[in-house]
Order: sequence, then C-alpha cells, then structure tokens
Amino acid sequence: VDKTLLMDDQGIRRALTRISHEIIEKNKGVENIVLIGIRTRGVPLAERISQNIKEIENAAVPVGMLDITLYRDDLSTLAYQPIIHETKFPCDINGKTIVLVDDVLFTGRTIRAALNALTDLGRPRTIQLAVLIDRGHRELPIRADYVGKNVPTAAKEIISVQLNDTDDNEQVIIKEP
Ligand code: 5GP
Ligand code: MG
Repeated sequence: VDKTLLMDDQGIRRALTRISHEIIEKNKGVENIVLIGIRTRGVPLAERISQNIKEIENAAVPVGMLDITLYRDDLSTLAYQPIIHETKFPCDINGKTIVLVDDVLFTGRTIRAALNALTDLGRPRTIQLAVLIDRGHRELPIRADYVGKNVPTAAKEIISVQLNDTDDNEQVIIKEP
C-alpha cells in the first residue's frame, strides 16, 4: 500500500491558522459566528479554529456539532443516503453566521444533509463551509469557502486524516487502494 504524506502537523496547523484569519477577514470580525463541526474529525478542527480566533481576535466563538453518517442503500439509485444522528448547538442559530467545518469534502452529500438539518432548525443569516481537504468528485453544486488543501484524487483513493484528538498521529496521508 502506497502512502503519500499530504500534510504533517505543521502543515495542518498552518492551514488552520490561515483559515481562521480568512474567516475573520471575510466576515469583518467574528460577531455572530457559530462554528459547527461535523463529527468525527470536524469537531476538533472547529475547536482549533475557535481557539485560533480567540488568540487572534480575543473573542469567544461558540462551537457546536452535527453527527451525520452516510450509508449505502443498495435498493436505492442514490449511492449514499445521509442520516442525521445527533445535533448539539451552543445557541440559537437564527440570524447567525454558521461556519460548517469538516475534514474532507467529497461528493457534497454530507454538507447537503447538514444544510437541511440547519435550515430545519432555524434561519441562519449565512452558512459557510470550511474543510481541511477538498478531494474533488462533487455530485452536488456545493463548494467550500475555506480550504486547507485541494487534493485531486482518484475516486478509489482515500484520504486519511489523523488528528491527535482522535488518532495517535497528526498528519494527512493519501492511501492508494
Ligand atoms: P461527501 O458527503 O462529500 O461525499 O463526503 C464527505 C464526508 O465523508 C466527510 O464527513 C468526510 O469525513 C467523509 N469522507 C469522504 N471522503 C473521504 C476521504 O477520502 N477521507 C476521509 N477521511 N473522509 C472522507
Ligand atoms: Mg465525516
């Protein structure tokens, strides 16, 4: 199995620092911003961005989470069906600028499910998307506002995102099947 290093710990840290600055710049500050991490690895990424913003702007940005999994329904013509398992929002989302945070953006189906869940629960002012890796192969008209790294992949390849919070390592590697 061939493994290629895409990001080491410094690469991850620098990408998250840049994304944190971009979020502050695009929104002209951080008032009314709520970060929502998509479980599993979007949650520690959202917490790190919140911590960075605290250091840069001296402001507290709340972090919530959405738990969405995709399952393959063999009887359906749609390849993957997302299911929402759990939502934990730190505050009312009405009028807020929501920044969804996930580790990898692929077909866009997870984010579509997240958008459905959010708009069922209230009326945010804006919803933005931050991802550590955009690996392409979109099946829906969804794009990220903040991207750590664009990685053109073959459909069969898998990006392994390893974070100290959830794994024994801090790196992003590409795995050939
Ligand atoms: P999508 O819904 O866009 O097809 O897939 C995105 C979701 O599946 C994300 O929550 C992400 O964690 C996971 N995912 C899709 N492709 C990969 C991949 O290559 N590596 C990892 N680590 N996660 C992936
Ligand atoms: Mg995921």
